[in-house]
Amino acid sequence: MVKSDELPYLRRCVELAAEALAAGDEPFGSVLVGEGGAVLAEDHNRVASGDRTRHPEFELARWSAAHLTPEQRAAATVYTSGEHCPMCAAAHAWVGLGRIVYVVSARQLTDWLDELGVPAAPVRPLSVNEVAPGVTVEGPVPEFAEQMHALHRRFHTGSTQQG
Ligand SMILES: [Zn+2]
Repeated sequence: MVKSDELPYLRRCVELAAEALAAGDEPFGSVLVGEGGAVLAEDHNRVASGDRTRHPEFELARWSAAHLTPEQRAAATVYTSGEHCPMCAAAHAWVGLGRIVYVVSARQLTDWLDELGVPAAPVRPLSVNEVAPGVTVEGPVPEFAEQMHALHRRFHTGSTQQG
């Protein structure tokens, strides 16, 4: 269950996704929140660098491995604008992070990208639990879905954006 006091974290994920888009990256943003509710780290997509593994959820998993104890990681929540891809779901599980809350599911995003004529990704859009069955996952969160749909449309159809 996503509580109303969690919505600001998801709103921040959408803001980070918009920042990514403004920088020429795909619109994805994520926030790592500790057990007490403090934002510990945040990041957005950085694949425009040419490194297609620079997903925010992957960065947060590695950050948490470097900076948090196993207990802190297990008690933390990762909020994210889009459900983790298989690479990020695996990283999340390997470092022992806790719950995931996403705005848009992998299936929803795949449908949107199909409608936009975007070629299929080189990695299958598996759900987090297909990759990491022990992780508690919540979403989608419809309050922010239309904003995310608009950001993805702009990335893939905007005349000033590559991709
Ligand atoms: Zn990913």
